[in-house]
Amino acid sequence: MKVTIVYDNEVSKEGLEAGWGFSSVIETKNAPLILFDTGADSPTLLHNMRELGIDPKDIGVIVISHAHGDHTGGLWGILEANKDADIYVPASLRSAIPGREVTRVVGSLQICEDIFSTGELRGIEQSLALKTDKGILVIVGCSHPGVGEIIDAASEWGKAYGIVGGFHGFRDFDRLAGLSLICPCHCTQYKSEIKRLFPDKCLECGAGVAIEV
Ligand SMILES: [Zn+2]
Ligand SMILES: [Zn+2]
Repeated sequence: MKVTIVYDNEVSKEGLEAGWGFSSVIETKNAPLILFDTGADSPTLLHNMRELGIDPKDIGVIVISHAHGDHTGGLWGILEANKDADIYVPASLRSAIPGREVTRVVGSLQICEDIFSTGELRGIEQSLALKTDKGILVIVGCSHPGVGEIIDAASEWGKAYGIVGGFHGFRDFDRLAGLSLICPCHCTQYKSEIKRLFPDKCLECGAGVAIEV
């Protein structure tokens, strides 16, 4: 299983661009290519995908974590290039996507083999739970429902192994102690504290980072 950060507030690879937002691409053996969130704007997202050799046409599933513009802004550019990906949005994202069938997620559900949605937590945001040989890798957008609540929800499918994405103002750091991989991205306010507390488990985030589990 490979998770590539394609849009982030920071850049980790030459030639890529930063922007306030988050997007990642998930590759697994048994599921179509998944785009989780789309960053704040199409030009940056499409540029970074091109630089990383990811063709928007190859995306089979698009998952939007929540309705904020720093996660949905690149969606329209992707949809212009890709006419047939399945789309999963939280029920609270109300804007219509003309001509496209959209799954509006409320409760937890399976999206593909080994890929699950926590469901829309606290009426705002869904996260992904990826089943790996090492446990559940949790992919989050902004963690508005709270990192702890998201980890609990994702544990429905196994023991949490790691977490990647934006943690927002999360500071209940004990909740990360049981994890083996922590990649604080995007809006995480306490990045330096998390890195200091968990130096062996922390991965630096930025567009271009690829995490293989
Ligand atoms: Zn947000
Ligand atoms: Zn955000």
